This record gives sequence, structure tokens and C-alpha cells, in this order.
Amino acid sequence: MPESRKKTKYIFVVGGVMSSVGKGVTTASIGRILQSRGYSVATIKCDMYINIDAGTIRPTEHGEVFVGEDGIEADQDLGNYERFTGVDCVADNYITTGQVYREVIRKERNLEYAGEDVEVVPDIPNEINRRINSAARKNKADIVIIEFGGTVGEYQILLFLEAARMMKLKHPDDVVFVLVSYLPIPKVIGEMKTKPTQYAARTLNSAGIQADFIICRSEKVLDKPRRDRLATFCSIPKDHAISAPDLESVYEVPMVFEKEQLGEKMLKALNLKEKKNDMIEWKRMVQRIKSSNKEIRIGVVGKYFGTGNFTLADSYISVIEAIKHASWHHKRKPILTWIDSEEYEKNPKKVSELEGYDGIIVPGGFGSRGIEGIISAIKYVRENNIPYLGLCYGMQLATVEITRNVLGLKKANTVEIDKNTPHPVIHLNPYQKRNIRVKSYGATMRLGAYPCILDTDSLSFAAYKTKKISERHRHRYEFNNTYKTRLEKAGVRFAGIYPKNKLVEIIELKDHPWFVGVQFHPEFKSRPLDPHPLYRDFIAAGIKKQAKTKKK
Ligand code: GLN
Repeated sequence: MPESRKKTKYIFVVGGVMSSVGKGVTTASIGRILQSRGYSVATIKCDMYINIDAGTIRPTEHGEVFVGEDGIEADQDLGNYERFTGVDCVADNYITTGQVYREVIRKERNLEYAGEDVEVVPDIPNEINRRINSAARKNKADIVIIEFGGTVGEYQILLFLEAARMMKLKHPDDVVFVLVSYLPIPKVIGEMKTKPTQYAARTLNSAGIQADFIICRSEKVLDKPRRDRLATFCSIPKDHAISAPDLESVYEVPMVFEKEQLGEKMLKALNLKEKKNDMIEWKRMVQRIKSSNKEIRIGVVGKYFGTGNFTLADSYISVIEAIKHASWHHKRKPILTWIDSEEYEKNPKKVSELEGYDGIIVPGGFGSRGIEGIISAIKYVRENNIPYLGLCYGMQLATVEITRNVLGLKKANTVEIDKNTPHPVIHLNPYQKRNIRVKSYGATMRLGAYPCILDTDSLSFAAYKTKKISERHRHRYEFNNTYKTRLEKAGVRFAGIYPKNKLVEIIELKDHPWFVGVQFHPEFKSRPLDPHPLYRDFIAAGIKKQAKTKKK
């Protein structure tokens, strides 16, 4: 097929043996290496949930809710895609079972099936493939990489596998299947076992799909006998079993894939022309990570318990990655500590331990548990000149703290916690009041990218070096402008404003080395090759504090 015809190519990424083995990072890394060869890529996550989006799932169940430019509340893997490929993800890049059924039922009610029976097969798989093709078109992608959540063999993945099988049937030369599998090394046996992966490949076969590549996730490198065994029993070419050992940083994965020549092999399998690759910038970044030895200690204060299926690292992945990007920029190795704010409620004196950190972050959050502890932590960092970055709730609670302890309005609060506070310094606008009254919770927060104008005399402007910025939001409550003048007099700088209705987006403290609270989530836009300016300057302030503490 001559390339000028530009047929879309499809790579389906499915998991075998167990979940959480890095399908998202694999998908993102494949995207990066194909991009580096001059192909445009789109990445799509398919989640098996009936939920329409990730906005209504607790992060402790599901991992972080990642927010796109358009306000889509999606799975955290979209964050991996953006960090690796630099391509912004939007609603098109996120498909759930709920969305697919909703659309099929909508069409049925509209008589769009022209009086035919509407059936689970083929109408559901057809709708899945329509969505995939529409995303490919909108992204102008040469290659679209589709990741299926969960693992083969699960009941709920079947209709997605059926869609992929139908896609292959329709476009036999343009579809490649990648099985990301786990090869355990049981302690008592001491050797890597391929059998679970063989079963996974066979389960895939029973859905009518033959894997073309197997990404072999394991603690160690895949050796030759096991490569051969996988080739024989899973019917793949010997060099299509790709070794993917545990690594210190996920950003090394594309380099490991390059070593295995995965890019070349994939282009061949997709009948695409080999182009020269350019991973120099990425390689340099990985080298920088490895040479970042000097530590920077960051404390993240929040309410942490009952993390369910997911760990803290999943619930706050974008924040963690943004801290890493910024630290590596300064050639520092970040040491992150999760500080449970409830400890400060039980034992208020303990808050002085914050002195031991180079910087403190309060990330986004909801609800009232641990809040008083967070507020006392913010009071401590404010009074003791510790660099502070407040993210969304972290900005709102900083505002509450300052209103209480600097303005002296002791009962000030956010109405999220105290509906009847006499000083609702964080409050609800009429739209949001209504949403809560009628229990309209899905996709009704202030979501996605909004512009913000910076005060040129601010830490934020010094970081961004531009007056107009745009950042992504996910919140229901906001700053109450009634308190603006009084807080300004008390030393608060309103450094960023949403011009349309004068909403406060950034607060800073004039009399503090580095204290910034933002109503948005800058972490969603941080990239390893392009650290976020606010995180970058927060870490820089931490380095300064470190130097000062040493001198003392
Ligand atoms: N709970 C707050 C709100 O809804 C903050 C949300 C957040 O931190 N993402 O406004």
C-alpha cells in the first residue's frame, strides 16, 4: 500500500496475567518511539466501567482523576500518554463501557438503526470502533494506540476484544496486537516462569486474537530460552518477545524498548516505512534523571488512609511526576514524604516536624476529614518561611488559614466543610448551589482549561514569564471576592485572576520567600521534557531554604 493513501494504523494493547503491570506506560512509550520516527500518534484508553467518566469514582478506588483541556475527567493513564507523547488528550481519547452503551441506546431511540434489531454484537463493538476511528481522525493520527483496561479473560473486556478482532478482520494489514504480560519469579523457585503468559496468549486466542508482540514485564531481563519458549507456545516471532524489566524510572521504558528495536519491528508489522528515529532529547533527559543525586525533601500533607485498591502513588500520580520533573530540572533527587494531617489533629505539637522539609505541598482533595490538621500545617509553613505550593484545595485551605489567623476571623471556613460559617471565604456560585441541590454531580464541577491573567509583580509571573496563562481545573468551590480587599491589606497578593468573572485563581504571600496557592492543577501540564514553571520555582525555593538551613 503506497504511503500516500494514508491508511490509519491501529495498535491494540491488552494486559495478561494481572493488572498494574504498566500497560499505560507501555502504550505511552510505544507512542513516543513511533512519534520519534516522524509518525503522528493518538492514544486512547478504554475503561470497562459503566461509569461515564472517572469523575464519579474515588481516587482510592481508581487512581487519580486526570483532567483534559476540554474538561474530560479520565483515567490516570491519559496523564502518562500526555507526559510521554506531549499530545493533549481530550474526551475522544477516553472510552468507557457506559459511554458506548449510552450512545447505542441514544441512536436506537432516535431510530438511527432504521428499524433493525439492535444487538450487543455487533452493535456494541461497532460503536467502539466508530469511536476509535473518530478519535484517530480528529487527532490526525497515522497510528492510533488503544489500551484496554484490565486483563484478558475478564468478562467485561469481551466486547472490546470483539471490536479489536473485527478491526483486524476489516484491516488485516493495519492492526497489531500487543500483549503486556507479567512473568513472575517465585522466590522458592528462583526462576522466571512463562506459563501464565502462555495461558494469557491462549485466552486471547479464544477471543479470535493472535498477539503480535508480547511485552514481558518482570523483575529481571528476559533470557534467550524464555524468549524461545514464548515464541513457540504463543506463536510469535522470536524477536517479538520484548524484555521489560523493572526500572528505576518509567521514563527509561522507551529507551529499553529502543534497545529491543521495538519501533522498527512495529513499523514493519504495520507495513509502514522505517524512518530514522530521534530520541536524543529523551535520552538526555533520562541521563539527567540518573545523575540527579543530591536530595530535595518534599512533604505532601493530606488525609491519607484506606487507599483501597490503589496506592497514594496512583491517587496523586500527576503531582508526584510534576515534583520529579521539576527536581530533575535542578538535578535534584526528590524524596517525597506523605504526611497524614490527622496526626496534627491528634498531636498539635508534631507540626514542627515540617521544619525538616525543603518544601510543603497540599494537594487537591474533597471533604472534611483531616482538614484542621492541614490548616495547622499551612499556618506553620506560613509562619516559618517554608516554601509552600497549594493545589486547588491547598489554595482554598491556605485562604481559610490566613483569614482565620491573620485577619482574625476565627470561624472562617470553606462552605464545603461548614455550610453555616459566618465567614464563607471559600463559597459556592449559584450554578454550583443548584448542582448540589438537585444532586447533579457528574461532570458538573468547574472543569478543564481556563485562562488566567497574572499580576506582573508576582512569583507566578516570575515563573511563567508571561501574563496570560491557561490551566486545568477541577473544583466546585471558589474564592469569595467579598474578602479580597481585607486579605490584600493583610499581605495576600492576588496574583492570578480569571478575567471573565474576576475569579481568584492564584494567591501568594507578599511577606514570605515562596508561598503560592493555585485554584487549578498545574501538575496536569508538567512534562519530563518541560517541567511546570510553578513546580520548577517551588523546588528552586526549596533548594534556597536547604542552603540557608545548612548555614545555620
Ligand atoms: N474540594 C474543593 C472543591 O471542590 C477542591 C477540589 C480540588 O482540590 N480538586 O472546590
